[in-house]
Amino acid sequence: MSKLKIATIWLDGCSGCHMSFLDMDDRLIGILELADLVYSPLVDTKEFPEGVDIALVEGAVSTTDDLKKLRKAREHSKLLVALGDCAVTGNVPSMRNTFGRTAVLDTVYIENATIQKQVPREVIPRLLKFSKPVHELVRVDVFLPGCPPSADTIFYALQELVAGRVPQFEPALRFGA
Ligand code: SF4
Repeated sequence: MSKLKIATIWLDGCSGCHMSFLDMDDRLIGILELADLVYSPLVDTKEFPEGVDIALVEGAVSTTDDLKKLRKAREHSKLLVALGDCAVTGNVPSMRNTFGRTAVLDTVYIENATIQKQVPREVIPRLLKFSKPVHELVRVDVFLPGCPPSADTIFYALQELVAGRVPQFEPALRFGA
């Protein structure tokens, strides 16, 4: 039997969810005996591949670049997992939503800058008007809340998904329950 393909993507998040993924420690070896990690900030692949079985998404969707990555991941993945509170609810990145995009950019690049006071128009991806949770933009199959979700939670969910089962969480862990 061929191995499953797992991918992780990092949108607008602090990477804490990926650190929690790594905190599975040697349990990762067991997962990787059944599945290959084909795309992730943790591996060197540059393009999101086709035919991914399980994609875990960290972070809210805050920029045009995030949205492009997310749509590609959704298009090429059978199951998409919102990994962590930023992906599930918008969490920290969405705190900027009440201030407006222009005010946020001016505060960061002009008011609090000591040199070169200007909002960059090139190189950095354009901010979307609002930072949004993943499910507002694409279909999500599994929600893993937590800031970050614990390594135990991620391990349990991956074990179940790799085995072809839907992870069942206690009500406190179930988003929208
Ligand atoms: Fe970081 Fe928490 Fe967001 Fe994960 S959910 S990216 S740990 S702020």
